Amino acid sequence: MKSVDRWVSPAIRALSAYHVPPAEGLVKLDAMENPYTLPEELRDQWLQRLGQVDINRYPDAGAHQLKTQIRDVFEIPQNCGLALGNGSDELIQMTASLVGGPGRTILAPAPSFSMYEIISLTTSTDFMEVSLNQDFTPDKNEFIRVINEVEPACVFISYPNNPTGNSFDRDFIEAVITSAPGLVVVDEAYFPFSGKSFLQEIHRFPNLLVMRTLSKNGLAGLRLGMMMGDPKWLDQIEKIRLPYNVNSLTQVSVEFCLDHFSVLTAQAQQIVEDRQRLAAELGKLSGLTVFPSEANFILVKFDQNADTVFEQLKQRRVLVKNLNHPGTLLENCLRITVGTPKQNRQLVSALESFL
Ligand SMILES: *Cc1c(COP(=O)(O)O)cnc(C)c1O
Repeated sequence: MKSVDRWVSPAIRALSAYHVPPAEGLVKLDAMENPYTLPEELRDQWLQRLGQVDINRYPDAGAHQLKTQIRDVFEIPQNCGLALGNGSDELIQMTASLVGGPGRTILAPAPSFSMYEIISLTTSTDFMEVSLNQDFTPDKNEFIRVINEVEPACVFISYPNNPTGNSFDRDFIEAVITSAPGLVVVDEAYFPFSGKSFLQEIHRFPNLLVMRTLSKNGLAGLRLGMMMGDPKWLDQIEKIRLPYNVNSLTQVSVEFCLDHFSVLTAQAQQIVEDRQRLAAELGKLSGLTVFPSEANFILVKFDQNADTVFEQLKQRRVLVKNLNHPGTLLENCLRITVGTPKQNRQLVSALESFL
């Protein structure tokens, strides 16, 4: 039988491919992108740099120059290992390939970043989650109990958490790292907006990996993620990494952007200020609850069916992320990425027109 059913595992057949909705002509507030581009004069200099790249040659497989610059800009401790991925999604995949597999479990809070589950399943690893409390704080005792029971190969903690926007207590995260028999990945995708990190704690914990990405920082299109931790673990990750996973145009572009990193930092700062303003504006509307956020998005729960709210926003040309799942903590929730002040006003007036 040359059939899909014979050779593709039930776990993968049951999945649907990651759906990215079309956004043409819409105010795009669904994917935590930075709404700002590089200033014009930097764009020109960047294009010049790109023009010098020999695309007939393979990239530097070790991305040596880029890694040196990253260590410097992000103040990565000297004795830490560093691996780069084609986005941090790829680093999640490498980690799952390294320690996952049949009979192994990956653990995460629920709700959290959907790729933890998808990547677990596609690497034949069991995926288990521990529900957060109603206010999206973690239940420490329950989490530790589950860790002791299932002995997960890896625990993923998004810090701040996507899609809820809050950062878990450091005490909780330290307790997870200490109790876990395997790896704990602290995923700091939203570090540019929270400023909170475990990077400087790596030396204290032999099983801690810290992950960052440039995607939420204004460079989503380049696909670059970073993973830091004890070199013993990163040496193993390096064996799994495909040699040219970070292409030459990305390497050169990120090097260029890191030379001008203060521009991206200022944009992130602007987004943080606009997040406070947007949260306050949303808070004035009736029929919804706004959850506190340390990221570049805001989670909102509606008193009415959020599918309807989502569709009504779309009719008014505003695209957000619909997370409505009846019977879960995300029932009637939408996730709104903070945009430019103008986009944020468009969103608020769209809501005002029908709420
Ligand atoms: C967006 C996001 C990522 C993915 O980042 P890429 O580097 O674009 O792959 C990883 N983790 C969390 C929690 C995210 O929200």
